[in-house]
Amino acid sequence: MPLKNSSSKIPVFLLIISFCLLLFNSVFLHEKINLVVSLVFTLANISIFIYFLKLSSRKSALIKSEIEHSSEQINIINVDIQKSRQLAKALKLKITRYDNLKKIIEKLNVSLKTDTVIRELTAAVYSLISDNRGIALFYLVDNQYQRLNLVYSLKDDSDLVILSKEGDIFDQWVLRHSNQLIVEDLKNDFRFDPEKTLLQDRRQIFSLISSPLVSHDSLLGLLRLESKKAGFFTQDDLRFLALVADLGSAALENSLLFHKKEELAIHDDLTGLFTKHHFVSRLKDEVKRCQRLDQYLSLMMIDIDFFKQYNDKFGHTAGDIVLKKVGLLLKSSLREVNPLLCRFGGEEFLVMLSGLNKQKALVLAEDLRGRIEKKTIILRRNETHITVSIGVASLPLDTKDDDELIQKADKAMYKAKEKGRNRVCSI
Ligand code: GH3
Ligand code: MG
Ligand code: MG
Repeated sequence: MPLKNSSSKIPVFLLIISFCLLLFNSVFLHEKINLVVSLVFTLANISIFIYFLKLSSRKSALIKSEIEHSSEQINIINVDIQKSRQLAKALKLKITRYDNLKKIIEKLNVSLKTDTVIRELTAAVYSLISDNRGIALFYLVDNQYQRLNLVYSLKDDSDLVILSKEGDIFDQWVLRHSNQLIVEDLKNDFRFDPEKTLLQDRRQIFSLISSPLVSHDSLLGLLRLESKKAGFFTQDDLRFLALVADLGSAALENSLLFHKKEELAIHDDLTGLFTKHHFVSRLKDEVKRCQRLDQYLSLMMIDIDFFKQYNDKFGHTAGDIVLKKVGLLLKSSLREVNPLLCRFGGEEFLVMLSGLNKQKALVLAEDLRGRIEKKTIILRRNETHITVSIGVASLPLDTKDDDELIQKADKAMYKAKEKGRNRVCSI
């Protein structure tokens, strides 16, 4: 820039001197020769002036193009900086996600509770992918009925109730393809019929990602995130969700197997009712709870009359069928009072009725006895009937102790036997 200023000043300066000389000659000197010299000198200076002017304009054009070039470079650098910043941000997000993933996996590895596994997995993807916005859903596959079952959800709208408990067309798509799904903008996704995407609860979905949880080729569940914004999820988000689902499926399978094992341990093989051991420990807790809340609790001890004769007449296998039938009958007849049912031993059953006083328990026991008596059981193509003797004992009327409560119910049952069987007694 200073070069441009000084070079443009030189011709102006020369021109001014030439004109001064010309003026001086014409005013003070009258010799023709001097006038010619002055004219030549002035013309020379004008030429120099034009030359410098051209030089200067060429330089300014050059500088202008250099400026344009530089600003282009600056723009490119700015775009690069922006890209680098975005990349750094994405990398930071990735590091945070994978850092957290490590912690989640560590937690999952020590957790054998299905509920905990499901909660941890859902919370992880909801916070790390959705930033705790929109909705996160966790479905388990119900193998018995071959359908999905919504078991856990997280949402930013606390008033919203998710009504589609068995999934919708997006979940069916994931199940059918056994693959992850991304819907970037539902309005422009040709795979899904807009009519069928309307949900029962009318919640708005504009984008979603979903991934199945698969273990050893069997589908365990489905993890899904949805948003009210189109384009909310990226392919990177889907990859991360699929990774969490992959890692989570092993933990989920472990917890499901553990749960199954636990369930088997506390249930009687033949009838599916609780075992004596489990029942007694639950009774202990329930007695404490009822005493704390000043509530009633009743027990029914049920024993099949002359069961040995059934075994002797129809065989042990037929006897087993009778025991199963009695278990089912207890479940169906007492469903409304939400009992805890147990096969206490051989052909004895124990029923816990929380919140029921002795009077009500006696009425219920009499009703149950009548139902069992009327029930026709077919053993080896023979129509038979069984009867039961029932003993009832209640808290707090008979005792305040759980062990004693069982003993009293048992005693009452023996009283019924002594009185001729097929009856209900209390002490
Ligand atoms: P009571 O009216 O006095 O109760 O007579 P009972 O024949 O029912 O009583 P008892 O205690 O003499 O016989 C109980 C029978 O229950 C003996 C046993 O063979 C049978 N039993 C116990 N457990 C099972 C089982 O798991 N399956 C079968 N089929 N029978 C069983
Ligand atoms: Mg018995
Ligand atoms: Mg018996």
